Amino acid sequence: MTNLTRKKAKSCSDHNAVFTANGMIIEPMNSVLKRVWVPGAVIIGAGPSGLAAAACLKKMEVPFLIIEKENCLASLWKLKTYDRLKLHLPKEFCKLPHFPFPPEIPSYAEKQQFISYVEAYAEHFSIEPLFGKEVKRAKYDGTMGLWQVQTNDTEFVCRWLIVATGENAEPVLPQIDGLTEFRGNILHTSEYKNGADFKGSKVLVVGCGNSGMEIGLDLCNSGAQVSVVVRDKLHVLPREVLGQSTFALSMRLLKWFPVRLVDRFLLLCSWLILGDICQMGITRPEIGPLELKNTSGKTPVLDVGTIAKIKSGHIKIVNGVKRFTSRGVEFVDGRSDEYESIILATGYRSNVASWLMVNSNSLCT
Ligand SMILES: Cc1cc2nc3c(=O)[nH]c(=O)nc-3n(C[C@H](O)[C@H](O)[C@H](O)COP(=O)(O)OP(=O)(O)OC[C@H]3O[C@@H](n4cnc5c(N)ncnc54)[C@H](O)[C@@H]3O)c2cc1C
Repeated sequence: MTNLTRKKAKSCSDHNAVFTANGMIIEPMNSVLKRVWVPGAVIIGAGPSGLAAAACLKKMEVPFLIIEKENCLASLWKLKTYDRLKLHLPKEFCKLPHFPFPPEIPSYAEKQQFISYVEAYAEHFSIEPLFGKEVKRAKYDGTMGLWQVQTNDTEFVCRWLIVATGENAEPVLPQIDGLTEFRGNILHTSEYKNGADFKGSKVLVVGCGNSGMEIGLDLCNSGAQVSVVVRDKLHVLPREVLGQSTFALSMRLLKWFPVRLVDRFLLLCSWLILGDICQMGITRPEIGPLELKNTSGKTPVLDVGTIAKIKSGHIKIVNGVKRFTSRGVEFVDGRSDEYESIILATGYRSNVASWLMVNSNSLCT
């Protein structure tokens, strides 16, 4: 604990304060709330980023406490992803600092292998988050020079705050008329596990990012009749070119060539490997995939087999949804169709804006 924090803690603490072995001071505030003085940093989120930050702090002997709302590490991967998920990028681009993936794990690690790697990481660095604590509010007290981080029953006070709550904290549900009228199954991709329950049924996947495209493939392989909504322009690239990861190849080429030239090369490879996706009902944006990623953050879809199913007619591409009806959907092009299930592959959003009260003086990046 820093001298500053210790002094504040002492001055605020009452006779019931408890000093823990790892330097924290716990004092009751009232019958519901207690205050915990944390030496060093509080990290919010025990996903890969929070653990990576913790490991780096540990190496530098900076004390920290991780607060996680779920009851496990890597909750996104454990609780909100589908069974067939593998890393979209080769493992060398997904490894956490100071701890490589074991060599026996394949380049595109399976979901369970990635989870085991994250668990081994936490064990290796002896990282023990405080689970089941959702941060409801965090604000910086400029006069004390300390952060106050509040959960349901505790206020944590610390000098540094590290936000590692990810970009996938909350599912995004589309604002489309009639969603509540639909009488079939509706689920968000965060609830989808596999296609077993959908065999033989007609399913509409709304959204065509990496998750939507892969879940479409999974459903198709499980015997569902699948349509995927492609509303906007979209880049799809093969996951690999000549046996090399497209992502790794792009990173290498970008060291030598301008982004537009690399984009042209990727689009040529894509055309040779996947064919002309425009003929399948998918329109490419005017600017190339890497330039688009740089300018708008929009990630290209890395194809894992969905395009072949679209080409063979096993997966249908359909237009944007105008409204949901009790039995199906009306599309923006005026057509309509009936479905038994709808999977919303409409992405996620960060939840930071709902609990982080900041002014620019309290932030550094
Ligand atoms: C289907 C899918 C596939 C993906 N594939 C890849 C891939 O191949 N390669 C890759 O690099 N990335 C991939 N990603 C991106 C993914 O975001 C990263 O893999 C990684 O999980 C990000 O780590 P993170 O720690 O930043 O966030 P997260 O893993 O989302 O962890 C954030 C943690 O913060 C917790 N939290 C959130 N809010 C609060 C709060 N208020 N209080 C306390 N705790 C809170 C959450 O419960 C969660 O445990 C994929 C994502 C998805 C959804």
